Amino acid sequence: MVERPPVLGAAAFAAFERCGRLFDYLYIDRLLPAVEDERIAGQRRYRRYTELMAKGRIKERQRACLEAEVARGWEQFLQSPEAKFAGRLYLEYPLHVQMGEWRVGVQLHRLAVGTRFAIVQWDTGLERPPDAELKAAWPVRLPLLLVCLVGSQLNDNRPIAPEQVQLTLWFTRYPEQPFHLRYSQTQLIADRQRLERALPQLRTSRMSDDPAICAECFFRIRCHGLHPERLGPGLSGWWEDGDARSGEEPGTAD
Ligand code: SF4
Repeated sequence: MVERPPVLGAAAFAAFERCGRLFDYLYIDRLLPAVEDERIAGQRRYRRYTELMAKGRIKERQRACLEAEVARGWEQFLQSPEAKFAGRLYLEYPLHVQMGEWRVGVQLHRLAVGTRFAIVQWDTGLERPPDAELKAAWPVRLPLLLVCLVGSQLNDNRPIAPEQVQLTLWFTRYPEQPFHLRYSQTQLIADRQRLERALPQLRTSRMSDDPAICAECFFRIRCHGLHPERLGPGLSGWWEDGDARSGEEPGTAD
């Protein structure tokens, strides 16, 4: 049976921009580092909880069992303007588009459709990047782009103008610092061009030449072996510490 290519979301494009080889490992070879698995599982758990809470399907007994972070973050979200945005509510709404050999897609964690299209994406990361970085980040730009490109079913099959769409990135660990972006025609054109430029390059398998990126990567042993002299002496301590923390890595499984 021929395996279909995976749906590429924001994380896939971010991985490719970091390193083409990393993209290959994750999305072509489909190797998943165990630690990464746990992070993704945590994100999914959070989204499932918030979905149930939004539908009012969490009972008091379950609420008492919720992770403190989830319960607290949800209470803070309920006080925000995003939670009060009136309109039809969609949760975990998928949008996909076939572009050449690739399927590109996003899962809209929460979308309210009223006078505007208001997207909320949950972010359970440990850090909240600066606004200048977030403004261009794939997790912000890809959902906005796909709503405009392929979201017309959300608008009675009429096109959606970029000026009608906005996105909030809600950081569960920093609920007092959400990131907001209102979309525009200029941004849409730039994002479509960026996506069209990225897709043909995905097969190039270009290895990162930045030792600092490799030193932090879970696949560093697969790429550089156990003695990464070429990465420089300054990184060897980090390398060994990382090995001690992560135990056997995917790169050692052959
Ligand atoms: S170790 Fe470096 S070259 Fe290898 S996948 Fe990771 S970032 Fe890319």
